[in-house]
Amino acid sequence: MTVARQLYELQEVDLEIADEERRLGQAISRLGKNDVVVAAQEELDTEKNKLEELQKQQRALEREIDDLASKIKAGNDGLYGGRVKNPKELSNLQHEVELFKARGDRLETKDLELMEQVESVEAGVTELTDKLKQVSTEWQREQEQLGKEKMSLESSLNDLRQKRQELAAEFDPKTVTLYDGLRKNKGFAVARVEQGICRGCRISLPSSELQQVRGGNVIQCGSCNRILYLP
Ligand SMILES: [Zn+2]
Repeated sequence: MTVARQLYELQEVDLEIADEERRLGQAISRLGKNDVVVAAQEELDTEKNKLEELQKQQRALEREIDDLASKIKAGNDGLYGGRVKNPKELSNLQHEVELFKARGDRLETKDLELMEQVESVEAGVTELTDKLKQVSTEWQREQEQLGKEKMSLESSLNDLRQKRQELAAEFDPKTVTLYDGLRKNKGFAVARVEQGICRGCRISLPSSELQQVRGGNVIQCGSCNRILYLP
C-alpha cells in the first residue's frame, strides 16, 4: 500500500471521528435541555391564571346580582306590602326598583358573557394540559434516546481513536506533521486525483506531477498543497 493511500485511510478515520464528535456534541447539548416542556408549562400556567381571574370576576358579579335581587325583593315588599302609603314615597320606591331591575338585566347579560369566556378558557386549559403531557412524554423519550446515542457514540469514538493511533503510528513523524498541518489549515489534507484533476482545488495537474503521484510518492498539489492520492 502506498503512503498516499495510507494517509487517505487515516483521513477517512479522521473525518469519521470529526463527524461523530459533532454528533456527540449535539447530543450532549440537547441532554437535559427542556425548553419545550418549560414553554408548554408556562403556556398552561398563563391560561390557568386567566381562568382563575375570570372565575373571580364571575363570583363577584354573581354576588352583586344576588345583592340586587334582595334589594328588588325588599323594594317590592315595600311597594306591595302596604307599609309605604305616601304616593311620593311609593313613586320613588317604584323608580328605585326599576333602576335595580335594569341594572340586574345588564349584570345578567355580563354574567352570560363571562360564562362563555370561562368555557372557552376552560377548553384552552384542557387542550394545553394535553399538550404539556404530550410534550413531556416526547421529551422523556427523546432524552432516553439521546442518552443511548451518547453512550454509543462515546464507545464508537473510543474505537476510532484507537484505530487512528494505530494508523498514525505507521508513518514517519515528518509525514504525520505534514498531514496534521494541512488538515488544520485546509480542513482535509489528502485530495483524490480524478481524471487528472485534484479534487481538493479542481485544478488539472501537470503531467509531471501526475507521473510522480502514480509512482505512489507523497506529492503535494502545486496549487492547494494537499497530498495527492490516486485511487
Ligand atoms: Zn489541489
